[in-house]
Amino acid sequence: MYMNFMKQYKTIYHLQNYLNKQKSLGKSIGFVPTMGALHDGHLTLIRESNKHSDITLCSIFVNPTQFNNTEDLDKYPRTVEKDLEMLKGENCDAVFFPSVNVMYPPEQDNSFHIDFGQLDKVMEGAHRPGHFAGVAQVLKRFLDIINPSTMYMGQKDYQQVAIVKELLKQIQSPTQLAMVTTVREKDGLAMSSRNVRLTAKERKIAPLISKTLFDAQSKINTHSIVNIKKEALKQLDIPEFTVEYFEIADGDSLQAINDINQCSSAVACTAVHLGKVRLIDNVILK
Ligand code: AMP
Repeated sequence: MYMNFMKQYKTIYHLQNYLNKQKSLGKSIGFVPTMGALHDGHLTLIRESNKHSDITLCSIFVNPTQFNNTEDLDKYPRTVEKDLEMLKGENCDAVFFPSVNVMYPPEQDNSFHIDFGQLDKVMEGAHRPGHFAGVAQVLKRFLDIINPSTMYMGQKDYQQVAIVKELLKQIQSPTQLAMVTTVREKDGLAMSSRNVRLTAKERKIAPLISKTLFDAQSKINTHSIVNIKKEALKQLDIPEFTVEYFEIADGDSLQAINDINQCSSAVACTAVHLGKVRLIDNVILK
């Protein structure tokens, strides 16, 4: 029987011993940062890393500094044992699940600041103050510890990918960034760790979010952006939803656009509250 000896590390010292050994053997390190409560979206990132990197390292760390809402942090699903089994099933080579003190040692200055210009002033950045500062802080720490060849991240968090691209550029990191297409449930709902917090009734309604995005995508060459946005907001205007934003933006600068011909790539992004859960999704338009 095939035995999978997935390495499990909680300390930087032991993780780095392992990584240094692999690097000295000339192996490339693929890194998949996650907050756990794994689903098939995360596992797709693991599979991509397995395909393109010699060693796949997954981290599981619910980073407190990127939560702007304490209830969201408290209620964030934590399923480490199940996560480890899922990672073993994908032949992930190693997992790093540090404590908060390991990531942010109290005796150390853990502050880190980057000016993202307008990238973090819109959409998630505008609605979740401090969120991307926390994301940048934790990823800078992971990059310093791991120095992977490639980091794999999901399109599901499109703005996060843009932020991380900018982070890698500004810190002149040699790490490559690979964006992996959003994995969806059969009914179109983007997989998310937060989906388990939806009630059965809410779960039935939730696919209206992706449907609205795909409808917008289908109109991109025939309707004006103003019209598409108006129609999308109308579709999302049901009592169960509170729409935070529905935006059509330049795929690079993330600034809102009025004309699809104005940019070389474009994305439609939305954030919707459904019950106690905040859901985000996006589709690439161009
Ligand atoms: P999280 O655990 O939510 O921080 O996500 C960890 C990584 O998985 C991030 O790069 C996410 O963008 C990615 N991810 C989350 N959901 C999906 C999905 N449905 N499809 C693809 N990637 C995803």
